[in-house]
Amino acid sequence: MTAPSREQLHTNELLPYAEARLEGYLADLAGLVAIDSGSYSPAGVNRMADWTQSRLLRLGFDVERFAPDPPHGHPVGDVILARKLGDLPVEQGGRRLLLVAHLDTVFDDGTAAATPFHLDGHTARGPGVSDDKAGLLAGITALEILEEARAGQYAELVFLATPDEEIGSPASRPVTEAAARGVHFALALECARENGDLVVARKGVADFRVSVTGRAAHAGIEPERGANAALTAAHLVVALQSLNGHWDDVTVNVGVVRAGSRTNIVCPEAELRVEVRSATAAGLAAAHRAIESAVARPAVSGTTATVEQLDLCPPMEDTPASRRVFDRARRIAAGLGINLGGAATGGVGDANFIAGLGVPTLDGLGPVGGADHTPEEWLDTSTVPARVALLASLIADLGDSRTG
Ligand SMILES: [Zn+2]
Repeated sequence: MTAPSREQLHTNELLPYAEARLEGYLADLAGLVAIDSGSYSPAGVNRMADWTQSRLLRLGFDVERFAPDPPHGHPVGDVILARKLGDLPVEQGGRRLLLVAHLDTVFDDGTAAATPFHLDGHTARGPGVSDDKAGLLAGITALEILEEARAGQYAELVFLATPDEEIGSPASRPVTEAAARGVHFALALECARENGDLVVARKGVADFRVSVTGRAAHAGIEPERGANAALTAAHLVVALQSLNGHWDDVTVNVGVVRAGSRTNIVCPEAELRVEVRSATAAGLAAAHRAIESAVARPAVSGTTATVEQLDLCPPMEDTPASRRVFDRARRIAAGLGINLGGAATGGVGDANFIAGLGVPTLDGLGPVGGADHTPEEWLDTSTVPARVALLASLIADLGDSRTG
């Protein structure tokens, strides 16, 4: 095999390199699936981190490894943040790319032994086989074949592996956001959708707490001196639920309602928890304003209501810039015989935080898998060579702006 030229990266020149690594890939995948790495099992996540660290060191990356601060006191495993400078500086057209995968799964300790890695024809099964062990491994393998083929120029590659994605990345989010600042593109290594689509958009999620304060009074003797917070809250439930349908792509869910403690007291306080999802930051902001205006007009006189935003995960929006990255992936995929689609999803991931900073981001760049978070989770191993070749070619393509 001769090293492919930059122009040949749009064809399938890297496919033979990926095909030659399939056997090793499957052996590595079996090893990774055998590790229980639930988000709440830092020891297992750290074994995943050990593996990732050693492979990145072998590739010549500078590897930082540390335990991110757990904001709610629940310890998580280590973050791997690795960097490698290329030989094409930004001034000469090189680009900085961020690759991101996660080390954790949703499965408890013991799952790997109870339902071990299993290969049946082209279908691999086991906890985390698709989400995200195959994706992590695809990222490492793509970098290895670029190295082997001496292909691909770039200014810098940043490889980030997070330990807590499956619980919303509470500890690693600041690390991810810091890593994303200053990169030109980001590629997230979740597996492709069941039908092979990449993920071009993910909804954002905002959580709110609405607090209603009323006035307690004896419900039998002098109820007129009270102000019923539960009644104001009930009106707010109706008002907020009726926001559904006001905007395309914005959903509002009052998921928690709490009020009062005794039947003989006019209810003095109530609380609602509300979740808003939208494909756009503008949609989330519009819903936030609508909640604020509903809260400003409590139905029961003598009650007051306030709203507080608890959590905000920005959407990964389908922007013109991210579309251009997708179009480049599509072109490369066509050379591999893949008719690549792009899907939008309501689920969130680390890609949301990166895209929220304005970085053009594409997700779903692992092989094709599905049934994530269930005992039936599967990976179609026949898709591994082409998807790894696609990823490697896309890294090479995006890393060198002179190719675009
Ligand atoms: Zn995942």
